[in-house]
Amino acid sequence: MTDAEVPRHPAAFALWREVQDTRVRTRLGGFYYLLAWLLTWLFSADPAGLLGVGLGGSALFFVLLLARQLHRPGPLDNPQQLQRWLDQHWGLLLLTSLCWGQAHAWMLYRAEFADSALIATLATVAFSTAMTFNFAMRKRRAMLAIALLYLPGLVVLALEWPQQRALLVTLACYLSYLLLVLGRSHREYQATLALELKLLEQQARLDLLSRTDSLTQLGNRYQFNNLFPSLVAGSRRRGEPLSLVLLDIDHFKQVNDRFGHSAGDTCLQAFAERLREVFRRDSDALLRLGGEEFGVLLPNTSLEQARQLAEEFRAALASQGVALEGERRPLTTSLGVGAYLADSDASAEAFFKRVDDALYRAKMEGRDRLVIA
Ligand code: GH3
Ligand code: MG
Ligand code: MG
Repeated sequence: MTDAEVPRHPAAFALWREVQDTRVRTRLGGFYYLLAWLLTWLFSADPAGLLGVGLGGSALFFVLLLARQLHRPGPLDNPQQLQRWLDQHWGLLLLTSLCWGQAHAWMLYRAEFADSALIATLATVAFSTAMTFNFAMRKRRAMLAIALLYLPGLVVLALEWPQQRALLVTLACYLSYLLLVLGRSHREYQATLALELKLLEQQARLDLLSRTDSLTQLGNRYQFNNLFPSLVAGSRRRGEPLSLVLLDIDHFKQVNDRFGHSAGDTCLQAFAERLREVFRRDSDALLRLGGEEFGVLLPNTSLEQARQLAEEFRAALASQGVALEGERRPLTTSLGVGAYLADSDASAEAFFKRVDDALYRAKMEGRDRLVIA
């Protein structure tokens, strides 16, 4: 599983993690139920005499083992399916616990197993301990599984009071220890999960920061460098139009010189806000490429549509300027506009250069104008 496939949403991540952990931890368990059954049967006083029941039990635990191994979660990005898988898998775990608990009780009860019942009791202790440490992500379900494993044997031992009282008391003490540890294991699991979620959130925030220009909250040059080649490749592959608008504010140095650098910054923010008002589609990517230069990537937009939007932006800015310290200040921009031509643009860089040249011509021809690449 690559990093990109890890769910980002906290609830989806928690579920995904639990499925992964359950899946890894369930793999070994099934074998040992079968093994414990075989040992208890084969070391009993008369395995041949118990052939039917021995084989029957072996078949049962073998089927449960197979079910555990073959039960695989579906697509990891579908929370409903993950939840269903978890519920079904817990059904299997609880069924296995139920079967073993009954088997243990039965072996304690029957005289034929007098020689080997201790094996079954040791296995019960081991299975309950494994449940406590491995499946603490669901505390109540784990508690139920431990009860199913453990209590039937205790009931039989209680019936055989007082001969079995030493074993009964010892097992009861151990059960109380398991329940205490289960609570702690559960809290530790939750704490680790919370930590992972926090890391994930910080990663997402850093990722956003690294792609965002802090002054204008538009995408930055780094974002452009990532996005531009992939949009060009997509446009080439699907044969859909892709337009690019490059903008460079006119005589911006003078704004700084006259009003100060901080007023210049405010001006850049107002400029970005105006861009957002005109280029409104979700798929439009608005970027600050550096200084007072901006770019807008318009997927699925023809050259004519892009020209109209860009001209609307230019005309509105030229007539309204921007608000600086409560006053309207004139501001204009020059623009280059182009659409990707799969046949003649040899590369994304060639396409960019074509539009950048158009912007340069707009400057040369007197600024506050739009030139088509
Ligand atoms: P032209 O019409 O030829 O584009 O003229 P211009 O003055 O806009 O171009 P020039 O490249 O000479 O100057 C760009 C100015 O933009 C210079 C720099 O001080 C200013 N600038 C760049 N980045 C920032 C910024 O983050 N904040 C502020 N306030 N000014 C910036
Ligand atoms: Mg410039
Ligand atoms: Mg400029």
